[in-house]
Amino acid sequence: MHERNNLFEPIQVFVLATHNRHKVFELRDLLADLPVDLRSLTDFPPAPEPEETGDTFLDNARIKALAAHHHTGLPALADDSGIEVAAIGGAPGVRSARYAGVSGAAADQANRDHLLTALGDATDRRARFVCTLVLINSAGTERSVTGICDGRIIGAGESARGSAGFGYDPIFIPDGFTQTFAELGEAVKARVSHRARAVAALRDLLGGRAAG
Ligand code: IMP
Repeated sequence: MHERNNLFEPIQVFVLATHNRHKVFELRDLLADLPVDLRSLTDFPPAPEPEETGDTFLDNARIKALAAHHHTGLPALADDSGIEVAAIGGAPGVRSARYAGVSGAAADQANRDHLLTALGDATDRRARFVCTLVLINSAGTERSVTGICDGRIIGAGESARGSAGFGYDPIFIPDGFTQTFAELGEAVKARVSHRARAVAALRDLLGGRAAG
């Protein structure tokens, strides 16, 4: 059982500041055993969609959490995440969602292709997923946590593989595995992903064991 500290008591309802249904699904699942009611921002129309103008995952998560908190008056939890690839200077980083300049249903495939092209036949395939969560309580106090999942991009000449997850999952192999996240599926992701690790840190924070 996770104890909570006074700073965030009582957390009964809080709004999840994301429009990405995969993230809502993953975060709801990861937080399922906590005594909180995670509401979706889409329950509060017209939901704000602030521009993510920050240079860091923290900046962008703050922008989203603040917008959701101001819009609803509720405690808010926002996530900003992406993939950093060592051989191309940490790109796409905060630009992960819009890396190929394509929006809508075709974006994920276009982003993956763009990344494989940018990386070319580089032998250094190291990459990491990063997730920063920002929590704003009802008094407006902010806390943040970050989770990282190290791994590598599939080899030059290999094809994306697997059908689970979203985004870059079909071309990312987490350390300790030989399959991509999209092949490994949600159960593995729930243990080792950047989002799972950020949520673990959030649990510690809610339990008063981390400074944020
Ligand atoms: P955000 O919605 O601005 O945080 O954009 C995050 C982007 O990073 C997503 O659109 C994906 O392209 C990528 N991303 C973040 N987390 C994951 C993940 O768990 N798997 C695959 N891609 C991810």
